[in-house]
Amino acid sequence: MNQPTLLRPPHPLEVRVLTRRFEYPRTEPVWLDEYLRTEGYQALRKALDLTPEALVDEVKKSCLRGRGGAGFPTGMKWSFVDRKSPKPKYIVVNADEGEPGTCKDRILMGFDPHRLIEGCLIAGRAIGSNRGWIYIRGEYRVYIDIMDRAIEEAYANGYLGDNVLGTGWSFHLSTHTGAGSYECGEETALLESLEGKRGNPRLKPPFPAVSGAFQCPTVVNNVETYSAVPDIILKGGEWYAGLGTPRNGGTRLVGLSGHLNTPGVYEVPLGMNLLTIVNELGGGVWKGRKLKAIIPGGSSSPVLKADECDIPADYDSFAKAGTMLGSGATVVLDDQTDMVRVLARLMSFYAHESCGWCIPCREGTAWLKKITQRLDSGVGASKDIDLIDQISNSMMGRTFCPLGDAAAMPAMAIARKFRDEIEAKIQSTQAFVPAPGTRPLVVL
Ligand code: SF4
Repeated sequence: MNQPTLLRPPHPLEVRVLTRRFEYPRTEPVWLDEYLRTEGYQALRKALDLTPEALVDEVKKSCLRGRGGAGFPTGMKWSFVDRKSPKPKYIVVNADEGEPGTCKDRILMGFDPHRLIEGCLIAGRAIGSNRGWIYIRGEYRVYIDIMDRAIEEAYANGYLGDNVLGTGWSFHLSTHTGAGSYECGEETALLESLEGKRGNPRLKPPFPAVSGAFQCPTVVNNVETYSAVPDIILKGGEWYAGLGTPRNGGTRLVGLSGHLNTPGVYEVPLGMNLLTIVNELGGGVWKGRKLKAIIPGGSSSPVLKADECDIPADYDSFAKAGTMLGSGATVVLDDQTDMVRVLARLMSFYAHESCGWCIPCREGTAWLKKITQRLDSGVGASKDIDLIDQISNSMMGRTFCPLGDAAAMPAMAIARKFRDEIEAKIQSTQAFVPAPGTRPLVVL
């Protein structure tokens, strides 16, 4: 089952936990036989002998935080589920991976699908669940097929089904295909979509741990988060926590893209310096150019200028620097990058993806798109930069789901940090502004 690979040969600075089964080059997934030969399902066997409380405690000790974007502590999220509730409890995997620049969950599903299944089983055991779904974006056809085949293998060999490994405990798992909406990466919109409705987000609280899929307690985590669980149970939470920095346990996958010599997906311990990641693993900025900026955690994370990038890549350090680790998608921009073009491209994406449910996002993203395209096409004015700031400010914290903030944060960051460059572009294109009453150069 050939698939496009973003894998690189192992780099000496990588710490391979999630990717330890990925020798290079590799095109075939690790199917069940190979998985079992390499400690596969050992963690599940151990988990079946532990109490649900012990499993949650182990994950808490690991300091594992959600790898999808928000970085919420995983063990704490699991502990919010009331195991004594008479309702069924559900496990949902967020495999939507729609954040631009993000390309790491596909690798985990594509090369080590049983790791994800084992993580789901352990999570199910921890919260008293008998049912789970892997919600995969529709564009990931090849990964849906891989997961389906791995799930079939797990059923055929007693790892999934009505009597998991002869314990009498049942756990069923299947894939569910999304339709390719960015919005459905938000957990409550994903749940609506899973239930067969339009993928609009829900008002929170209640949070999914209390009322999630089909109004039942549900844990929603990202592919990478569940995939980390087998090693945590097998080797211990403290071991995993020790790989990272305090409160930021373990390793994570970074998807390096943009103007680099060796882009790809790498596994690094949390806390590795961002410049080390870019210069050592990513091979430095391409064509001998200089670094201009980094979008450090997917397109919604505020941009860092070159002189702000000498920081540890962990949740807390990034938050201190005014940005976020997000989905681990690290987009590197060289000194010849037109930041106005970057801004316009991002705003066009968010305007397209806004579901239109609430006014600040629907109107805000549409206006940000129009204004930034106007700047990019050479008919903007200085006051447009202030307008971007005002509109973004009026969106922040005032929208139903995080998409409003996701659009506003990068807009504000680029408009503030690259104001001089935007002004220079306006000045350089003034000569081309059409005289009043004449036909404009660009129709928006
Ligand atoms: Fe929809 Fe945007 Fe409102 Fe989210 S913030 S509900 S995407 S309109």
